[in-house]
This record gives sequence, structure tokens and C-alpha cells, in this order.
Amino acid sequence: MGGILVYALHDDEGNFNKNSLGAISEAAKLAGDVGGEAAAIVVGDISDDACAGLGAYGASKVYRAKDVPEGLAQPIVDAMAKVISDEGYSYALFGGGLLGFEIGAGLTARLDAGVTMEVTAVEAKDGKLVAHRPVLGDSQIAEVGYVGDPGVIIGRINAFDVNESGGTAEVVDVDVELSEWSTKARMVKRGEQRGEDVNIEDANILVGGGRGLGSEENFEVAETLAASMGGAVAATRAVVDAGWYPYAAQIGQTGKTVAPDLYLALGISGAIQHKVGMQNSENILAINKDQNAPIFEYCDLGVVGDLHKIVPKLTEAIKAKKGS
Ligand SMILES: Cc1cc2nc3c(=O)[nH]c(=O)nc-3n(C[C@H](O)[C@H](O)[C@H](O)COP(=O)(O)OP(=O)(O)OC[C@H]3O[C@@H](n4cnc5c(N)ncnc54)[C@H](O)[C@@H]3O)c2cc1C
Repeated sequence: MGGILVYALHDDEGNFNKNSLGAISEAAKLAGDVGGEAAAIVVGDISDDACAGLGAYGASKVYRAKDVPEGLAQPIVDAMAKVISDEGYSYALFGGGLLGFEIGAGLTARLDAGVTMEVTAVEAKDGKLVAHRPVLGDSQIAEVGYVGDPGVIIGRINAFDVNESGGTAEVVDVDVELSEWSTKARMVKRGEQRGEDVNIEDANILVGGGRGLGSEENFEVAETLAASMGGAVAATRAVVDAGWYPYAAQIGQTGKTVAPDLYLALGISGAIQHKVGMQNSENILAINKDQNAPIFEYCDLGVVGDLHKIVPKLTEAIKAKKGS
């Protein structure tokens, strides 16, 4: 059949995730070239209108598995495997995110498929999809083709642009028989994503806070510095995992990709997974007490010292200069 099936993640209010909408837009762009349609799969009791609305992003059909819970990978693997096998889709596409990685990996194992993760672009060549995946610290791009159906493609977060072109999708309900192991876990509560309004992608100046800040409370130091320059605050995965700062502010491989005029890294070691999200910043300034921290290998200006002593003085100096 040749079509592309996209997993469309939604929150408890039924709002679809931006990366999923980007993946649907990408599928719509490519589906014709691989001889099929772009379809989406939605789990949970989502309204007809909301499902049909995915047509605006290019989905011609939306499969709805009402009884499959959102947020847990294994039941969604069951649902996607069924639709792909029954309807003959050649590709499964995910917009990224931890759940997308988990479902994509499970689906790959279930269908004995090929998988490419961290994909930044997809193209159609000779009627088949080829995924572009950065390798060797993002210095090279590997082009990955698929031998046989289906192929699983998991995008890097923000890899695919959302493109609203109008249209309505046909909604098809599917009954899914869950595997025994898929019922072993149940969703007790879906966490609230604090700071959803954090918009680090549009900021010209970003202050990145790492574990070197020492505590959640100390993020105030980063926020005061950012405010003095009219910038925003971003974070590493280590601090997000520790609950010090919202996920929406995470930069890196499993977070956002940014390219501000100035990126000021406070107490960030500069791991490769962080670097891939901020290396395109125009100017990188790092403050770290360890002179051997990897971030000093690629920053434009490095300051070796204790951020707790340096940052308040820097903030004062900026405020004094600005007369604020
Ligand atoms: C699959 C995978 C995906 C990942 N994705 C991401 C991602 O998207 N984003 C991301 O950021 N990470 C990601 N990581 C984690 C990454 O490998 C690092 O563990 C993480 O970036 C480290 O965060 P950090 O720099 O805050 O902490 P650390 O590595 O602990 O560094 C803290 C730094 O602060 C310095 N410091 C301490 N005290 C002070 C002080 N008083 N003054 C100045 N400096 C001080 C230390 O010298 C140290 O260099 C991923 C890892 C894996 C395996």
C-alpha cells in the first residue's frame, strides 16, 4: 500500500502535541511519493471533530482506538501494529519525544521492522523513504533506507515543521485486542508539565542552567541574570530530571534545539547530548569551576570559577550598565 501512519499524541484535554502535528505534515508531504496516504492514529476517547481536524495537517484518514489508553507505550504498540498489519502501511512516523521513542522501539521489535531514531529530515527516493540521521556528534548525516516493510522513523524533537493546509480526515474506529503484557501497567496520573509557556526557541539571549547551580532555588540566579539582559532561561536534562526546571526548557538531544545570539551556560558540563541542542548559538559563554569541563572545548568565551560568586556580580554589572 505504501502509506505512512503517524502516531498523534494528545494531552488529557485532547490537544494534539506540536511534534505530532509536524510529523503528520511531514507524512502528508511525502505520502504521494511513496504511493500511499498519510494517516494518523489516535488513542483514547477523542471526539470526531478533533480527529477529523487532523486533516488540516494533511492526514486523509485518522484511526481511533477508543479503548486504548494514552501515555503508555505497549497498548499503543498493539494498536499501531494492528493498523499497520491490517491496512498495509509501509512506514510508521513519530514526531519524537520519550513516548514516541518507546512506542517506536516496541513497534520495531513487534513487526521485525527497521528503525531510525533522532531523524532530522526525511526524503522520498525512488518511491521509498530515506531518513536522515545526524551521526558523529552531528558532524555527518547518515542516510538510512529500509529493506522491506514496514520502516519506523522517529524524528528528533522539532525536526518537522507544522504545516496547516486545511482539509478534513475520515475517522475510522478500530477495535484493538490488547496483549496480555499491555494490561500489566495502568496510567494512574499524567503529570502536569510545568512551565509549558516557556518559550526558549524564540529568545535571542538564553541563560542555560546546569547541575552546577546546585538546587532548584538557585535557578533564581539564572532567572535574574536572564531578566537583566531581556533573555530566557533554559536547562540541561540533568536538572529537568531532578525536577529543578520544566521539561519545556530542556535543550539537547531529547529536548529543544536553539540558536540564540548568546548562550550563557552556567554550571553545565557540556555533554554531547546537550551540545547538539545549542551548538548553533552565535556566541557561547560558559562559566564552570572545572577547567576540564567539555563545554570549554566549544565555547567562544570560557570563565573558570564559581558561578555563585561570578553571576550575581555579572548581573549587577549588566544592570548598572543598563541603568536599571
Ligand atoms: C540518551 C540520552 C539523551 C540525553 N539528552 C540530553 C538532553 O537533551 N539535554 C541534556 O542537557 N542532556 C541530555 N543527556 C544527559 C547528558 O549526558 C548529561 O548528563 C547532562 O547534560 C549533564 O547536565 P549538567 O551539565 O547540568 O550536569 P553535570 O554533567 O553534572 O555538570 C555540572 C557542571 O557544573 C559544574 N559546576 C558545579 N558547581 C559549580 C559552580 N559552583 N560553579 C561553576 N560550575 C560548577 C561542574 O564542574 C560540572 O561541569 C542525555 C543523556 C542520554 C544518555
